[in-house]
Amino acid sequence: MKYISTRGDKTERSFCDILLEGLAPDGGLYLPTHYPQIDDATLTKWRKLSYAELAFEILSLYISDIPAADLRAITAKVYTEEVFGTKAITPLKPLEPGLVLEALSNGPTLAFKDMAMQLLGALFEYELGRRGEQLNILGATSGDTGSAAEYAMRGKRGVNVFMLSPNGRMSAFQQAQMFSLPDANIHNIAIEGVFDDCQDIVKAVSNDLDFKRKYRIGTVNSINWARLLAQVVYYFAGYIQATKSNEEKVSFTVPSGNFGNVCAGHVARSMGLPIKQLVVATNENDVLDEFFRTGSYRVRGSAETHETSSPSMDISKASNFERFVFDLLGRDGARTKACFKDALNASGAFSITADEFARIAGFGFASGSSRHADRLATIRATYEKTGVMVDTHTADGLKVAREHLQPGTTMIVLETALPAKFAETIREALGVEPPRPAALADLESRPRRVTVMASDVDAVKRYVVEHV
Ligand SMILES: *Cc1c(COP(=O)(O)O)cnc(C)c1O
Repeated sequence: MKYISTRGDKTERSFCDILLEGLAPDGGLYLPTHYPQIDDATLTKWRKLSYAELAFEILSLYISDIPAADLRAITAKVYTEEVFGTKAITPLKPLEPGLVLEALSNGPTLAFKDMAMQLLGALFEYELGRRGEQLNILGATSGDTGSAAEYAMRGKRGVNVFMLSPNGRMSAFQQAQMFSLPDANIHNIAIEGVFDDCQDIVKAVSNDLDFKRKYRIGTVNSINWARLLAQVVYYFAGYIQATKSNEEKVSFTVPSGNFGNVCAGHVARSMGLPIKQLVVATNENDVLDEFFRTGSYRVRGSAETHETSSPSMDISKASNFERFVFDLLGRDGARTKACFKDALNASGAFSITADEFARIAGFGFASGSSRHADRLATIRATYEKTGVMVDTHTADGLKVAREHLQPGTTMIVLETALPAKFAETIREALGVEPPRPAALADLESRPRRVTVMASDVDAVKRYVVEHV
C-alpha cells in the first residue's frame, strides 16, 4: 500500500515513510491510494479473531513495509487484557434494545486515544530502532492527547516527549495524570496561556526547518495516519460483537472534535464494513455539525471557541476533516486544496456545491450537537435508567445518537472516556463521585514533574536543546 496527499501531490510514500511525519510536503494529509475491500468470507473469518489478531489483519492491508511476523508481534504486545482491562479490549455495554456503548476507554489514561497511541508508541520504537534514529516528539494538549502520548511513549527507546499544556486549564485529574509520570524521557511544559498558544508554539518550532531537522522534532497529533488506522480496528470489533451475520448493518455515533475518530469509521465503511450511518456528535463547538447541516465549513476564531464540560471536543477547526472532504470531492486534490488552503486562508471558510452536498448521504454521514444542559440530562437519565455512568463526551454522543435511532439498526455509541476523568461535571449531574480504577486512587498526591514557562517560542526551543 502507498500513500498520497489530499492536496494533489501524487508522490507515493510507504507506511513507514509517513509514520514519523506530520503533514505531506504540500500541506495536505496522507491517505492510502485506495481502500482495500473486505469481502463477505473475510469478514466471516474475522469474527473468530481476537482483537490483536483482527488488528494485525487490518493493519497488514495498509502496511507493506513491516514484515508480517514483526507486525503480528507488535499488535500482540499492544492489545492485551493487561493494558486494556478486558479480553474483548473494546467490549460492548448494552443500554437498551438497539442502543449500546462500545467501551474504548479502559486503557492507561481512561480515554479512547490510548487505543491508537499505544500502537503508535510500539510502532515508533520499532521503526526508530530499525533505523538507529531518535525522535523528539513536540506536542500541544488540552488534556487527553498529551496524556495518551506520554503513557504510550514512556520508557520507549529512542523517543523523548515534550508536551505543552495550558497552565492550570486542564482538569485536576488530567494534570495529575501527566505530571506524575516519573519517566526521564517525558517532559511536561505548562505554558502560561491557552491551548491555542501551545499549538502556535508547536507550529512555530515545526516551521523552523533547520531546528526541526537538527533536533529531530516530530509530532503525534491526530493527523498521523497510523493513529487513524489503529482506530479503524474497533469499528470492525464493534460491528462483529453487535451482529450475528454480515447481512446486518449497524450505525455508529461518535463524539467528535478533530474528526479523527469518526474518520476511522469512514475508512471502515469505505472498506465495505456494513455501516449504515456515521453520526457526528459535537458539543457547543459545532463546526462539524454546521457543515453536515449546511455544506459550509467555517473555522471559528478564539472568541467563538467555547470552553465546555466536554473539553476534548473544544476545537475551532477539525484537523482530520480534510481527509473526508478529499473523498467526498472524488479525490480531487486541486479542489481539496482550493477549499482547505486557498479559501480557508482567504476567508476562514468554504462551501461545497449543492451537488457535492447531495453526496454526503451516500457516505452515511449525519450529525447533531449537544450542550451543557443536554450533557447533564443525559448523564442523569442514563444513570437512573441503566445504572451506567457515562462521561461528558460520551453523553454528547448518546444525546445525538437518540436523535438518529432507526428501528432494526443497532446504534453503537463510542464511549470515548471514563467519567473519572471529568469528576466535576459528574458531581454536578449526579451529586456523586465517579468511581476510579483502584490503581489511580492516589494520583493527585504523587510527586509532580512540570516546568511552567511563558508563552515564548525561544524559551521552549532552549528547553528542548537542553534536554535532548
Ligand atoms: C479526543 C477526544 C474526542 C474527540 O475525538 P476526535 O478524534 O478529535 O474527533 C472525544 N472524546 C474524548 C474523550 C477525547 O479524548
